[in-house]
Amino acid sequence: MPTPLFTLSQPAVPVAGEDALYPVRRVFCVGRNYAAHAREMGSDPNREPPFYFTKAADALVPGGGAISYPPATANLHHEIELVVALGAAVFQASPEEAAKAVFGHAIGLDMTRRDLQFAARDKGRPWDLGKSFEFSAPITPILRNSTPILSGAITLEVNGEIRQRGDISDMIWSIPEVIAHLSQYYHLSPGDLIFTGTPDGVSPVLPGDRLIGRVAGLAELDVTITQAR
Ligand code: MN
Repeated sequence: MPTPLFTLSQPAVPVAGEDALYPVRRVFCVGRNYAAHAREMGSDPNREPPFYFTKAADALVPGGGAISYPPATANLHHEIELVVALGAAVFQASPEEAAKAVFGHAIGLDMTRRDLQFAARDKGRPWDLGKSFEFSAPITPILRNSTPILSGAITLEVNGEIRQRGDISDMIWSIPEVIAHLSQYYHLSPGDLIFTGTPDGVSPVLPGDRLIGRVAGLAELDVTITQAR
């Protein structure tokens, strides 16, 4: 049998209040799931089907904390998001079936090199350079709760000032609807995380900034941006 040339660590997120880790397989992200954010990005929000991009699982920063300013950007943006973790296999499911696959929830930041994302978008190129990079997905421990979160305040403050404020009930596509839709394309399974989109108010951050994300019922996410390295 061939043997691995080196070992890689499995990305994993702690489970809140438990001596357990949730190993991460894939990180899916929903684009434009709040109408006001769709408008601020220059789109016309409607009930068109959701669309997705992915981040590498090793972009996760479990527990938040210090993250260095990434290379090759002059416009790093915050996007506060509710994250849902799956605890069961789900494929081509209805929203009612999809809801039963929820393991729990976390708060995540979809950090975005907006200049690179927009340059790619405007040329019809993939978003990877803008979205999937090191330290681009700080996330709280996952709170185990198999009932999908459908409402509650979601906010992000930077240096004590509220920049994003919305409500989970403002989502164009609810958590069960997102899981059901995504399951038309993938055999989803435990280890899959879904970042469910951000409300309006995204804005740039700089080294020294402290970001605190909150979703009602979950422990807050606390991130500080440090110098580029
Ligand atoms: Mn996002």
